[in-house]
Amino acid sequence: GKVAKGWEKKVDKPIERAAVLGAGIMGGGIAYQSAYKGTPIKMKDIDQKGIDLGLDEANKLLSKLVDRKRLTPVKMGEVLNRIEPTLSYDDFGDIDVIVEAVVENPKVKHAVLKEVETKVSEDTVIASNTSTISINHLAEPLSRPENFLGMHFFNPVHKMPLVEVIRGEKTSDFAVARVVAYANKMGKKAIVVRDCPGFLVNRVLFPYFAGFSMLVRDGADFQAVDKVMERWGWPMGPAYLMDVVGIDTGVHAEGVMAEGFPERMGKTFTAASDVMYKAGRYGQKNGKGFYSYE
Ligand code: NAD
Repeated sequence: GKVAKGWEKKVDKPIERAAVLGAGIMGGGIAYQSAYKGTPIKMKDIDQKGIDLGLDEANKLLSKLVDRKRLTPVKMGEVLNRIEPTLSYDDFGDIDVIVEAVVENPKVKHAVLKEVETKVSEDTVIASNTSTISINHLAEPLSRPENFLGMHFFNPVHKMPLVEVIRGEKTSDFAVARVVAYANKMGKKAIVVRDCPGFLVNRVLFPYFAGFSMLVRDGADFQAVDKVMERWGWPMGPAYLMDVVGIDTGVHAEGVMAEGFPERMGKTFTAASDVMYKAGRYGQKNGKGFYSYE
């Protein structure tokens, strides 16, 4: 791709300042992990409530470490000081990497990405944490698509070691190198993949969910399937995993996968989560999914 002049020198510059747009489940987790591993991060939302939730989450995770004597209260204060909550784009000029983690809606993401592009320098790399939207599609309205790519974290961010770095058609080597460096600094393993529905992990995971759904349709008891997968050695079975991910999020992603790969992921394969979704059972987030959490 097209790169700014002298990028070979700039690529070695350490990642010193980051920002995350959207302070929800993912944004809060990304801010926590960045701060915990030593990179100051601005956490921007449009809503003070979002910011409070993001900070609460970071506080909770850090307090647990202090309780377990794995962190001193002084260090906890230092980590929290590295998170700078904000409702504005003031002082975004010299940020190295921005991670966009607003709601999974292409229109909202386009607006946010176009706006933030005008607030940063030409060396700032902008990454989207989208789980399903095409990176090439998100890049369409941007004036510097070479600086844009995907940085897909998994939930919960502090626990899941992998980050998928998604390279769009116009993404530069510079942008890929910067985001891989940031992922590594955050203590994550990065893999670089091309743009397609589901990227890599969800292309493996959603056919697995489809297999689960067909088993249930054929009469299997979902709890029995979960138990078998646990005995086989996985940390949790498919129904419980769906509850953790969020059934609403899961159903949305299944729709994207079915559209991208109709021959492999048609609607009949997603019946189990559809039934839960229609019954208003969204998983752990609202206390009921395949299982009840009240
Ligand atoms: P969420 O609903 O918890 O948080 C979204 C936040 O974005 C909210 O706080 C909201 O106020 C804020 N927001 C909305 N519009 C904004 C704007 N214009 N500027 C700044 N902030 C804005 O959502 P989430 O689950 O954290 O998901 C965020 C992104 O991460 C989505 O793209 C999602 O697909 C992706 N993702 C989610 C998961 C998951 O398991 N939840 C996993 C990987 C990736």
